[in-house]
Amino acid sequence: MKTLHTIAELRPLLDGERAAGRSVGLVPTMGYLHDGHLALMRRARAETDVVVASIFVNPLQFGAGEDLEAYPRDLDRDGRLADAAGVDELFVPGAAEMFPEPVLTTVSVAQVSEPLEGAARPHHFDGVATVVAKLFAIVGTCRAYFGEKDFQQLAVVRRLARDLSLPVEVVGCPTVREHDGLAMSSRNSYLTPDEREAAPVVYRALRAGVAAVLAGERDPAAARALMGQIIEAEPLAQLDYAEVVDADSFRVPDPLAGNLRLLAAVRFGRARLIDNVGVTVPAPTQGG
Ligand code: AMP
Repeated sequence: MKTLHTIAELRPLLDGERAAGRSVGLVPTMGYLHDGHLALMRRARAETDVVVASIFVNPLQFGAGEDLEAYPRDLDRDGRLADAAGVDELFVPGAAEMFPEPVLTTVSVAQVSEPLEGAARPHHFDGVATVVAKLFAIVGTCRAYFGEKDFQQLAVVRRLARDLSLPVEVVGCPTVREHDGLAMSSRNSYLTPDEREAAPVVYRALRAGVAAVLAGERDPAAARALMGQIIEAEPLAQLDYAEVVDADSFRVPDPLAGNLRLLAAVRFGRARLIDNVGVTVPAPTQGG
């Protein structure tokens, strides 16, 4: 594996690979790698010829007072893990390489970026869309792998690629979890032992929401309340939101119908964790 720090090194290298007929896979990350990231890298390894992973803690997607400075970093360990996962090119640009001057151009994806994480973290998805558009422009034609763990981000990135006709096929990959159901996240490192023990309540609440929908619950307010009650019964958890939305539009269908996504954001001490699961309500059978 080669580590590259500049756009000027990466771009011609990938142009050369494509010119030689090899496909490129991209896995954008903010580092502090865990098995969720590594699953994306292995998938890219299996499906493309040249695997590029990026590590960049993107300042544009952090709000004032968020954890930009505290965000965990361990580049040596990340390098070993990425190498073992089959990454060929590890792109680690500094902030001055990505943003040498104040950024005047912002990429903003309407609608899907507005509720939930978009409402809780103003400008977050503009920051994500802008840096992802930039990465796509640097890397060029590729398949790009993103986790369902950040389901709304995945929706934003898919829409970004489609709306701007970027030569990138966005591939969504399932969420990798710890044995007790907690979704893997670099931010899990913020949890104290007690908070770590309490944190699987998020996935339990989401699964209870799915079970209720499968048992016939069609009232979004009731599903929301059920998940909220389960999370709020955990003293160390502070509910930010728990919601059921249409998986494509991110609007709340009432009654619940179609391809649904249940999403939650919950604070445990200084950690703010997000998770989600999907469920499909079968269309009512015709006739009768
Ligand atoms: P991050 O480093 O948190 O920005 O994440 C980089 C990529 O890894 C994003 O596409 C995430 O959705 C994905 N990812 C993070 N955690 C997980 C997980 N537990 N399972 C699958 N993908 C994940």
